[in-house]
Amino acid sequence: MIGLWNSNDAVRYSGALALRVYTSQLLGRDPSLVLHGGGNTSVKLREVNVLGEAVDILYVKGSGWDLATILEPGFAPVRMDHLLKLATLESLSDPQMVSELATHVVRAGAPAPSVEAILHAILPYPYVDHTHADALLAVTNTADGARRIRDIYGDDVVLIPYVMPGFDLARLCAREFPRQAHPRTLGMVLLNHGIFSFGSSARESYERMIALVGRAEVYLERNGAWHLPPARAAAPAASRHDIARLRREISACAGFPMIFATHHDAKFLAFAQRGDIAQISQQGPATPDHVIRTKRVPMLGRDVGAYAAAYCDYFARHAASAKQPKVMLDPAPRVVLDAVFGLGCVGRTVKDAGIVRDVYAHTIDVILAATGLGGYCALSEQDIFDVEYWDLEQAKLKKTGAPPAFAGEVALVTGAASGIGKACVESLVTRGAAVIALDINADIATMFSAPDVLGLRCDVTSPAQISRALDCGVCTFGGLDLLVLNAGIFPGGKRVAALADEEWRRVMQVNLDANLALLRETHALLKLALRGGRVVIIGSKNVPAPGPGAAAYSASKAALTQLARVVALEWGADGIRINTLHPNAVFDTGIWSDEVLAQRARHYGLSVAEYKINNVLKVEVFSRDVAELAAEMCGSLFDKTTGAQVPVDGGNDRVI
Ligand SMILES: [Zn+2]
Repeated sequence: MIGLWNSNDAVRYSGALALRVYTSQLLGRDPSLVLHGGGNTSVKLREVNVLGEAVDILYVKGSGWDLATILEPGFAPVRMDHLLKLATLESLSDPQMVSELATHVVRAGAPAPSVEAILHAILPYPYVDHTHADALLAVTNTADGARRIRDIYGDDVVLIPYVMPGFDLARLCAREFPRQAHPRTLGMVLLNHGIFSFGSSARESYERMIALVGRAEVYLERNGAWHLPPARAAAPAASRHDIARLRREISACAGFPMIFATHHDAKFLAFAQRGDIAQISQQGPATPDHVIRTKRVPMLGRDVGAYAAAYCDYFARHAASAKQPKVMLDPAPRVVLDAVFGLGCVGRTVKDAGIVRDVYAHTIDVILAATGLGGYCALSEQDIFDVEYWDLEQAKLKKTGAPPAFAGEVALVTGAASGIGKACVESLVTRGAAVIALDINADIATMFSAPDVLGLRCDVTSPAQISRALDCGVCTFGGLDLLVLNAGIFPGGKRVAALADEEWRRVMQVNLDANLALLRETHALLKLALRGGRVVIIGSKNVPAPGPGAAAYSASKAALTQLARVVALEWGADGIRINTLHPNAVFDTGIWSDEVLAQRARHYGLSVAEYKINNVLKVEVFSRDVAELAAEMCGSLFDKTTGAQVPVDGGNDRVI
């Protein structure tokens, strides 16, 4: 474990709270210490309030902040005197505790203080750091974890047996810490949970954390349980249809569409293929708060029904004896281990599935290290249930509003690097979808920075490239729910008498044949969409109202429209809807340079401004207008509509 303290950087942080920010970020930067909002830190300061009174304040990490990115406003200032009094109470329910913390914060608008605020307050040091370090978890999640901690640290640390985080833990520490601590105490180990360090300065507390965790790593190293040799595994062979079918079953079990990201890195495949996987993976999480992300245990293999039944049993076993009535979470797995495709991570969003991946990657490290020490042995089912269903988590469920319309759904858009296609990606992402964005332009790979968009270079006239793109898209997001066929070409105006076969075929190939191939290849995936597959075809005003000089384009879009009508008839029984949009005069696309626009306007004897709104409503039609309508056609408003054609053109007298 290497410390990241850098004196040159540290001088830029002046003041006790600023240095608290600096070393909190250093902890957050190392995922083997804390992950995604895990861990917390604090500093105790004496401040003078507006009345001129000196007040002791605990600045403790606010909920919703991540140590890696925390800033000064991320620390909630709470009155120390009140926290210390709370620590003397015999009992305090979690909702009461949250209320007491919130009402003794001294800055309006501060985040809710960490539920470990009282624990931070009772530790008699200015700076306190808390992590869920992998090495610590590996040592303590063993049958004789307490003995091993004593072997490693002697009496340098206070040792606390596992109790539920929150008030009970603070209460136990308030009693145990003074009993075990002495002037040379460096930290405090919470069995099966994590470790605290503390000090008189930010640097001292941070460096003690690094040193303490380093000692656990050295212990694991000496026992041959750290830096294990890289895993080797058989190559994956799951088809995209197998993955999409499994995603469908998981989504049906959850009751809503889910992202299902699969990872076949050697580490995950080798873990999933271990002979003892049924034993080591079914113990429980490495630290209790991971249960919120990963559920208590992963699903082994693909029997979603059996997993859900076991989850319901687990809930029934423990909910009956709970003090408060509990609302069961959906019984679908969040982690899937499969010998063929490796690790599957399930989440309502791509971000959530990514967090599951990060958490489980570290869980694997902890399990393997503990197994190296003689056996991974997690907390009891009851302890994990108590955290998964504690009042505070249940309260959060009630607060969460409705998710966006397409949360957990996956869309594919062609011609996504510019104009209408790019706008469609944005409209779908805004509505919560993950998007596989295809374009022949290689810039597509880097154009969208959000993890919700997978940009892939793809020539849609190549069946091999379509197949590769679908494999990659399904591996990344799990399946396909929505399809927007937008890619098309519009070559310069040629009269039929001068139209070469080659040009005709090229236009048909891109605008028609490629879309047939895309529809054929995605049909089986769309059939598996939990809410029914939805397809939107970007047609053209030229279908109902063609003009001279665009024979190939108009004919290709007309044939595509007819294809969509037949698809509507054939796929209705599969619950797949397909509708066509006919845009016109959308000038913010790649085709319309200023020059072409000026030339077309001149052709009609209009100024460019007049030409742009040359329609019944006298409005300019933008890519975004088309995209928004395309997205809405995938939504519930159009639930009962298929085979329709809708113009988006400001009103065209020839069409009307
Ligand atoms: Zn913790």
